[in-house]
Amino acid sequence: MAEQPTNRVQQEGSPREPGASPARPGRPIIVQKYGGSSVADVDKIGKVADRVVAAKRAGNDVVVVVSAMGKTTDGLLALARQAASAGGAAADPPRRELDMLLSTGERVSMALLSIAIQARGFEAISFTGSQSGILTNDRHFDARIIEVRPFRIEDELARGRIVIVAGYQGMSYRREITTLGRGGSDTTAVALAAALSAERCEIYSDVDGVYSADPRVVPDARHLPELDAAVLQEMAECGAKVVCAQAVEWARRSGVALYARSTFDAAPGARETVVRRFAPGSTSSTHAARAIVAEGNVVLARAPGGLRLDALLRAAGELGLGFRDLSFGPGGGAFVIPLLNVPDWQGAKRQLVALQPSLELDEGLASVSVVGDGLTATASPLSRFIEVLGGAGIAPRFTVASPLRLGALVDAADAAPAQRLLHATFVAP
Ligand code: ADP
Ligand code: ASP
Ligand code: MG
Repeated sequence: MAEQPTNRVQQEGSPREPGASPARPGRPIIVQKYGGSSVADVDKIGKVADRVVAAKRAGNDVVVVVSAMGKTTDGLLALARQAASAGGAAADPPRRELDMLLSTGERVSMALLSIAIQARGFEAISFTGSQSGILTNDRHFDARIIEVRPFRIEDELARGRIVIVAGYQGMSYRREITTLGRGGSDTTAVALAAALSAERCEIYSDVDGVYSADPRVVPDARHLPELDAAVLQEMAECGAKVVCAQAVEWARRSGVALYARSTFDAAPGARETVVRRFAPGSTSSTHAARAIVAEGNVVLARAPGGLRLDALLRAAGELGLGFRDLSFGPGGGAFVIPLLNVPDWQGAKRQLVALQPSLELDEGLASVSVVGDGLTATASPLSRFIEVLGGAGIAPRFTVASPLRLGALVDAADAAPAQRLLHATFVAP
């Protein structure tokens, strides 16, 4: 799979070289991203339009990235599964067609928001991911952005227009429509902010920033006003969906500052979380737990000794499966497969087992993690982690430890109590 776009990819619009022309000298560019709950109906889209117009009135050039309305992406996925089950037998829809289908969700919200902004007397134009110059690799359903060529956006900003971009999608170097993995509108926003040298990237959702745990699960989770991008990336990789992991990775690499805010709690001075490469006050010597995160729908793959790791990983790669927490030795090994971005697990599972019949796959699991800094500097955080879960009768199937994370795989039903216990032990004792 080629990771570099070829020069055969020609963007429509200006032939300018990347970075050759800032939109309008002296006017800061702000990228705002509004998630599904923020654009769930036309009323809410109107409120978002008011906020966008206010940012424009304040003297900024504004680029807005939108997600699909409400739970549209889940609804489209369900339709695809229905269409794929012929004669009652369930089957996995092909990934290419899923991308064609799912990318329509964001197109609906981009056009509605552009219409709502124009109705307020401001000039606006909407663009799909490919029109915005988001170029990706060809891994359908879970593509990675490899280059951003935002010429058309720059041209429209220079004309004084507000630009609305459909999040979560791009175009591969084969000119195929791709999607960026669940939650991928965040990635569109940060990658565009980096390519446009934006002053900042504001991520608006139904929560006023990042907390020390999912506030829906842990009621006394603490608001985190400032956070290091490395810590947030680890949180996102392990399931905290407040900002998607690939987006944080872009922010880390490009130095774009992220502001996570609530869409509907916009009073001046409202709470927010600012995420920077190095948050003020963070030092390499802080040995501390910062947050508890969990991810449902993960599979534990266990391989007895004698199994060829290289063959297994090659098969996983061909099937488009990601993995983490791999350990392997002469006696065997194990790794974790997150299923969030695997729309065709039933087929992939059959092929994996056909290739490696001794592979054991435990499904219906969740991972719970303590994320922080220096967590393996001594043995004590890990021994407390094991004791706390064991004391509550929660038996991890698999435990991992690194300086940034202590993690365990537990039965899905134990995930919520485990998060509350770990939060009370490590974050808010
Ligand atoms: P959007 O649709 O706007 O992208 P998401 O649903 O993807 O929003 O993300 C916001 C949700 O993330 C919140 O409603 C919250 O339940 C969840 N969440 C999980 N972990 C955290 C955390 N550590 N801090 C804040 N929110 C979190
Ligand atoms: N609509 C997509 C999803 O539900 C992308 C996003 O919301 O960021 O995953
Ligand atoms: Mg999201």
